This record gives sequence, structure tokens and C-alpha cells, in this order.
Amino acid sequence: MIDNTIFDNTEIAFALKSDSELERAYFLFKMISIEPLVRIGTAATNFAIKAKLPVEGLIRATVFDHFCGGVNEEDCLTVIDKMYEKGVSSVLDYSVEGKENEAEFDAALKITLKIVNFADDRKSIPIAVFKPTGFGRFALYEKIGKGETLTAKEQAEWERVVNRYDMVCQAAKNKDIAVLIDAEESWMQDAADDLITNMMRKYNTEKPVVYNTLQMYRHDRLEFLKKQHELAKKEHFYLGYKLVRGAYMEKENDRAEELGYPTPICENKEATDINFNAGVSYMLEHLSDMSLFAGTHNEYSSYLVMDLMKAKGIDKSDKRVWFGQLYGMSDHISFNLSHLGYNVAKYVPFGPVKDVMPYLIRRAEENTSVAGQTGRELALLTKEKKRRKKS
Ligand SMILES: Cc1cc2nc3c(=O)[nH]c(=O)nc-3n(C[C@H](O)[C@H](O)[C@H](O)COP(=O)(O)OP(=O)(O)OC[C@H]3O[C@@H](n4cnc5c(N)ncnc54)[C@H](O)[C@@H]3O)c2cc1C
Repeated sequence: MIDNTIFDNTEIAFALKSDSELERAYFLFKMISIEPLVRIGTAATNFAIKAKLPVEGLIRATVFDHFCGGVNEEDCLTVIDKMYEKGVSSVLDYSVEGKENEAEFDAALKITLKIVNFADDRKSIPIAVFKPTGFGRFALYEKIGKGETLTAKEQAEWERVVNRYDMVCQAAKNKDIAVLIDAEESWMQDAADDLITNMMRKYNTEKPVVYNTLQMYRHDRLEFLKKQHELAKKEHFYLGYKLVRGAYMEKENDRAEELGYPTPICENKEATDINFNAGVSYMLEHLSDMSLFAGTHNEYSSYLVMDLMKAKGIDKSDKRVWFGQLYGMSDHISFNLSHLGYNVAKYVPFGPVKDVMPYLIRRAEENTSVAGQTGRELALLTKEKKRRKKS
């Protein structure tokens, strides 16, 4: 068994943080831990941005700089290079959300291709990422998922979506980097899943280049993984999956209740945990056919992956297994893992301050609602502050 105090080392976890950055992180998580403050702060910030009040500087100096790498990819280089010195790679995440027209999808494509090129000559960025709804209309995915017939105009629109995926996957293959595709709401995900499987068929012939995402809070995902495995074996391509628990639980449950269908979400947190851990176990069991990117801040799941790797004699630096966390969160997992020689990459979100606000608000809300997570960050920051005072 792996020593389960590895993540307690705060000296390694926060080595890149100056004393003032440590204080800022502490202040930020303290604020985030107060739920009414997050609610009021979110409303006030949304209002201030809409009213064009000069709040960008304040946002930038606080939440933005803690959770984002910068406003563009060049801007993120300082953070990327610093993390890479400690062995942690970066996944540049253009975190602009909620776009709905062709010009915006083409702009997202352009930026994603630029990131693939940017990554090409930097070892610190071995992986690219995009969101399905960054490249196509939510309602279009939904319509296809329901099996409805598209109009000629929609058909042409879908072909443009397919083309966008294809261009990024092709570029990633040419540059020998991997590409992760995020997962979103279940009622648009079926169409994305089919499309991504087609990309895997085309580009994962020698090794996994294209990775889809499995949200293991969905009780159907383990079965889906096993079926995909059968398919991939039959058709001779490799699978790549990022495994996460899932970020849209409340939305999923609310919609299911409103429309009167059984929720796709596991019945409780424990069931999600069991499902997630079964997913990583299955993937590590079949590593000759697939690669795993474990996107989690859960310590137990991270130790489990380490344990299983050890038990199966999988080398820590085996490129078929990656650990992933978000920038600004769970540094104690990321940096202690990389210190031991595991492959670790952090999502580094970037984009104009006002456009990444939905992402930042999700992070604030998630840290408020995910029991224990903010408390854990605060406890670790306090421990490190004390340690520095003593030394
Ligand atoms: C690198 C990275 C990439 C990510 N990419 C995506 C993505 O593409 N799509 C996406 O949706 N999310 C994504 N996420 C977010 C992720 O899905 C989780 O929301 C987040 O990581 C918290 O889960 P956890 O595994 O870290 O651990 P934990 O904090 O242990 O788990 C919290 C999660 O458990 C689940 N949960 C909580 N309560 C219940 C309950 N009552 N019943 C059932 N389940 C419950 C929820 O999924 C919740 O987010 C990503 C996260 C990371 C780190």
C-alpha cells in the first residue's frame, strides 16, 4: 500500500507560492467558505460587469489570478514554466463559455488550434482540451442525441462541428500531443460521445490521442466504458478517457425532476465514489487498450490509482496514466504526486476576465458546496503558514 500521508507535505505542495500568495489563497478560501458571501458576491460581480463598472482590476487581483493563468496563452507562460520546474504539466483551457454562434465557434477553434501549435514546442504542455459546446450549438447536440432528423441547414451546421473536431484532433496527432474533450450535460452528451468515438476510430489507431470524458456521477458510465472497450477491441483502436465525477449534478437532478424522468445521477455521493473508483480500476486493468486521465481532487481516489499502479507494476511515469487537477486547487495532490515522479497536469484556465466569470463562479460555488474541500484547503494553507513561521 502507498503511504497515505504523502499529500500532507505542504512544503512541497506550496513551494511555488510566495508568502503573500499564500496569504491571498487563505483569504480567498476563507471568503469562499462563507456561502451567503459567495451568493451576494456573485450577484454583485455579475451586475458590476454588466453595468461596466471598473471591477476587472479587483477580480484580476483576487479570484482570477488564483484560479486562472492569464488573459491569453502567452500570459500563462509564467505560471506554466514555474509549475513545470516542479514537474507539473499544463493543459491550457480556454474557459470562455456560453457562446452560441458560428463566428464564436470558429474563434474557439482558432484559439484551440493556436494552443496545439503553442504546445508543439513546449514539453510543459503535452495535452490540449476543448468543450463540445465551444464548437457547436447545445440545442444541435441535443437534437441529434434525441435521434431527430436535421434540416438541411442543420445538417450543414453539424458538418462544420464535425470539421472543427477533426481539425483539432488531426493537428494534435500531427504534433504528437493528446487532446481531451470535456463532458457536459447528459442531454447533449450522446451526440458528442458518438462524434468523439468517431475521432478515436480515426486518430487513436496507434495510441490514444483523443480522450473523451466520463462523468462517473452518471450511473450508466461504467457500462458505457465496458461497451466502448468491446467496440474498440473489435475495430482495433485505442481508448482515451478522462475520468471525473461530474460538475452538473444539481442541474441534472433538477431537470430530471422537472421533466419527470429518472435522474442519470448516482443516488448519493458514496455511489458516485464507488463508480469512479470502479472506473479507474477497470481502466488500469486494461491499460494495454486504453489510457487514463484521472481528473480528481479526491485524495482517496488518487491514492487508489497509485496503489493499483504499484500492485500492477505500472511505472509511475507510464504515459498511459495521468493525474489532473485544476489550477488554484489541490496543489497538495498535484505537487506531491509530481515530486514522486507521476504524470500530473493542471488545467490552466485563461481568457478575458469578464468571459471567464462563469468558470470562476462555478469554482467559488463548488468550493462552497463540496463538503470538506474548502476546509481542507484552509487547513493545508494554515499548516504551511505555521511551518514557514517556524523555519
Ligand atoms: C482536471 C479536471 C477536469 C475536469 N473536467 C470535467 C469535465 O469535463 N466535465 C465535468 O462535468 N466535470 C469536470 N471536472 C469537475 C469534476 O467533475 C468534479 O466536479 C470535481 O473534480 C469534484 O470531484 P472530485 O473527484 O474532485 O472529488 P469529490 O470532491 O470527492 O467529489 C465531489 C463530486 O462528487 C459528486 N457528488 C457530490 N455529492 C453527490 C451526491 N449527493 N450524489 C451523487 N454524486 C455526488 C459530484 O460529481 C461532485 O462534483 C474536472 C475536474 C478536474 C480536476
